[in-house]
Amino acid sequence: MSEVLEARELSRVYDADEPEQAVRALDGVSFTVERDEFVVVVGPSGCGKSTLLRLFAGLIEPTSGAAIANGEPVTGPDPDRAMVFQEFNLFPWRTTRGNVAFGLEMRGVPEAERNRIAGEYIELVGLDGFAGRYPDELSGGMRQRVGLARALAVDPSVLLMDEPFGAVDARTRETLQRELLRIRERDRKTILFVTHDIDEALVLADRVLVMGADPNRIAATIDVPFDRPRYGRGLETTAEFTALERRVRSVLRDEGPDDETTDEQETTGDREATNEHDGADVESSGDPDAVTTVSENS
Ligand code: ADP
Repeated sequence: MSEVLEARELSRVYDADEPEQAVRALDGVSFTVERDEFVVVVGPSGCGKSTLLRLFAGLIEPTSGAAIANGEPVTGPDPDRAMVFQEFNLFPWRTTRGNVAFGLEMRGVPEAERNRIAGEYIELVGLDGFAGRYPDELSGGMRQRVGLARALAVDPSVLLMDEPFGAVDARTRETLQRELLRIRERDRKTILFVTHDIDEALVLADRVLVMGADPNRIAATIDVPFDRPRYGRGLETTAEFTALERRVRSVLRDEGPDDETTDEQETTGDREATNEHDGADVESSGDPDAVTTVSENS
């Protein structure tokens, strides 16, 4: 069995004991993530994406069903599954090195060794020369990198990433996406990544889970057939990429609140804002194999 993560009829209701206020945040979600697979979850705000990650991180418990990691139900946090948030909550009183070394310190790794490992990951995320800086001396993109290095430094096999690049500008986001893919090539990680940016999902993922709202569950699973590496080859301008993007968007339109597409465009800004797909071809039952002949050489 090579799956690392499995959601088995996973449901979570908040405030379940107060029927008036109960929120069904996840409603019977089932899927698996294979070892070293990069799975991206997209969906409208409120469809349960963060809840899903928090269940796998062991930060909250399911109301029914199970989040399973390496064959065992998740019962609490485990350093082998690192959660990476949009806001990294770095310790402001610690330097870059101190923040990156934090998890190692918690594990009792001796100082010289943890500084060596921290230095390696600081270099890996491109922050050489900034090891002695404090968070408020770094740009937003740099702080994201510190957070990423901190998560990677304890060498987890699973990364649970909750819109990790959602708060940085488009250019920095692309740089961080590239670095994540490069790091993943080097270290092999199983990644469950949440975003509401469809382009980001299609650039990163082996497979995209499209979630719908009401009920909050998976509406479609879409294999992303593009060869890697995916950057620098004009992938996003190819007909195949656009067709797949349209397909994801049509599922979201069918499953989400009526105004979701517009909301997401406003939220994600940049590329999305120029893509007006309302009224475009609907390919909701399209065959993913229809887009397997991909040219990245344009
Ligand atoms: P997403 O990440 O897709 O935006 P969330 O998982 O954050 O969705 O939230 C799913 C639903 O659960 C939303 O309706 C949200 O308001 C609700 N919710 C999330 N966290 C809590 C909480 N701690 N208490 C009550 N409701 C919550």
